[in-house]
Amino acid sequence: MSEPSRPAVTISPRGVARVKSGHPWVYRSDITVADAVPAGALVRVADARGKFLGTALYSSSSQIAIRMIAREEVSDLPALVAERIRAAIAYRKQVVSDTDAYRLVFSEADFLPGLIIDRYNDVISLQILTQAMDAEPVRGAVIATLVEELEPAGIVERVDPRIRELEQLPARDSALLWGKKSSTIISMNAAAVVPQVRARSVRANLGGKALEETPNGLPPSSVRFYYDALEGQKTGAFLDQRENYATAARYARGQALDVFCYQGGFALHLAPHCASVTGVDSSRPALEMADKNAALNGQLSSGKEIEWIEANAFDLLRDYAAAARRYDMVVLDPPAFAKTKRDLDKALSGYKELNLRALKMLAPGGILVTCSCSFHVSAADFVEVVASAARDAHKSLRLLESRAQAKDHPILLNVPETGYLKCIILDVT
Ligand code: SAH
Repeated sequence: MSEPSRPAVTISPRGVARVKSGHPWVYRSDITVADAVPAGALVRVADARGKFLGTALYSSSSQIAIRMIAREEVSDLPALVAERIRAAIAYRKQVVSDTDAYRLVFSEADFLPGLIIDRYNDVISLQILTQAMDAEPVRGAVIATLVEELEPAGIVERVDPRIRELEQLPARDSALLWGKKSSTIISMNAAAVVPQVRARSVRANLGGKALEETPNGLPPSSVRFYYDALEGQKTGAFLDQRENYATAARYARGQALDVFCYQGGFALHLAPHCASVTGVDSSRPALEMADKNAALNGQLSSGKEIEWIEANAFDLLRDYAAAARRYDMVVLDPPAFAKTKRDLDKALSGYKELNLRALKMLAPGGILVTCSCSFHVSAADFVEVVASAARDAHKSLRLLESRAQAKDHPILLNVPETGYLKCIILDVT
């Protein structure tokens, strides 16, 4: 074989073991030789004896120095990215239904490290997190593939300035990259809201077309949210919870409390099945959007008002528990408490406190939907925290469902970081 011109990096035995385990990341401390590799380059990866291990994307700034992209030689990165995006879209066609909003590409989990693409009806939002994905030819291939496959009305890049700085990429503003539209309305989970319209007419909405109408000419009763990709405050639902919203709706009853409600993801799904719903969040702009979303879904809650309370959830739960308030359903969906492994103990005590307070307020037969999106808190740790809260509350909990993120956020078995969301549903026996 002729000597390839592509830059090469040699990795340590520990790096080799990692690559062989199927994990794409190799840390800078495991790079033993890397001569003059440009930022964001495609590199050949070899072990100390020169044995070829695969092709990777190089970052000159991240501690994750290389991210493996193929076991083979790769010469045309834009073409590979286009092919992988098409494969990611094909996978969603199999696993996504009853929504026009879902994740199209989930970075490493779709073998596209540093690229996240979400579809919100006819608007596509993308995020670029690594030097290699930021290269102009790659950007061009991403946009061309999305336009060809999905015919969106707009493609927007959402920029996290902190990430660009960490990756030593030039500053850039969030902006429309293609088309004209950056805001829209998304619809999901019609079947969860009104079971009888588990309609033939409501199914995965792929290909840029609007959801079909039901036979009586009315739009299907899905749950709707405003989405604006360029607004300061991110809008839209948390797509990773989409399937859990639908499942929670199946257990919904009585007086419900949605804690950390953001723009109403759970609350709006529960409303049609509950006597009353209260949503709690510390962010006023999130609650204002939640209220607009409630109005948008007016027909679902049939005149029912959802009450939105701006408060620190810890304080509110303490006060409500002390006042012996009773609920038939409580949802807890806090932000990630453990951002790093070092925060684990503090995170576990945060989860314990929230769950304990929620349990004190649950009526007999009541339902607890409790979530953790901290990768560093394992599913087993999380169940144990809830079990320990149940012991302290002197209540017996029965596990009804143990769930994770929606299937459009794939989990790769050998890349544990791809699986982060836990959502368990229990009843108080
Ligand atoms: N359940 C939501 C997502 C929740 S994200 C959905 O499905 O869409 C976490 C939310 O917690 C954010 O909206 C944030 O504003 C809120 N939050 C963070 N700390 C809080 C606190 N101490 N008290 C109340 N809300 C808080």
